[in-house]
Amino acid sequence: MSDTASSTVGSFARAVAFATEAHRGQVRKGADADPYISHPLAVVAILADEAQIADWVTLCAAVLHDTIEDTGTSHDDLETAFGTEVADLVAEVSDDKRLPKHVCKADQVARAAKASPKARLVKLADKIANLRDIADRPPATWSLKRKQEYFDWSKAVVDAIRGTNPVLEGAFDATFARRSELT
Ligand code: NDP
Ligand code: ZN
Repeated sequence: MSDTASSTVGSFARAVAFATEAHRGQVRKGADADPYISHPLAVVAILADEAQIADWVTLCAAVLHDTIEDTGTSHDDLETAFGTEVADLVAEVSDDKRLPKHVCKADQVARAAKASPKARLVKLADKIANLRDIADRPPATWSLKRKQEYFDWSKAVVDAIRGTNPVLEGAFDATFARRSELT
């Protein structure tokens, strides 16, 4: 393995360890309460296995993508550990949950339209992973209407970034088609 390859694999391994620690004790909202880290790892797998994305900055940002939004991690923490590009990318895909929910959701659609190419890839894979979770292991308290609304809002985000990656957009559309199976 070349020095470059070994250092990128090493950075990715550190990013997995960092995200695992940051999300320690957090669980997904599905009835089986999976450890939260299963979600960022699913996002990485979608990018790497389904879309053949091999860019390490994108993959590191993918595994870290919910650390600013959902843990005590700051942009500075990520910049120190992984550099400016990864930190900026994670910040770009992070939502400000202090905003009222409807404002936050509209903001995500507006920001998606202006997002950088790498941020668009992470967003697409995140939405695919979340729709699959809602179809397969939904938050226990969610009504059918809330699940359908989440599907529809995710489609609005993805529609704002179409033309980014045909494989991921196809995977999103195939997952969105499961809306009719929701109960
Ligand atoms: P929620 O934010 O209440 O729940 C959906 C989010 O929970 C998903 O986007 C996902 O986020 C995470 N999640 C955890 N477990 C699961 C699971 N089993 N299946 C699917 N998703 C799971 O949904 P809302 O519809 O209320 O809000 C959606 C958006 O609005 C989010 O992006 C949120 O940041 C934003 N928002 C929500 C607020 C709220 O009060 N609910 C307030 C402000 C903004 P992730 O990819 O981060 O894991
Ligand atoms: Zn996520």
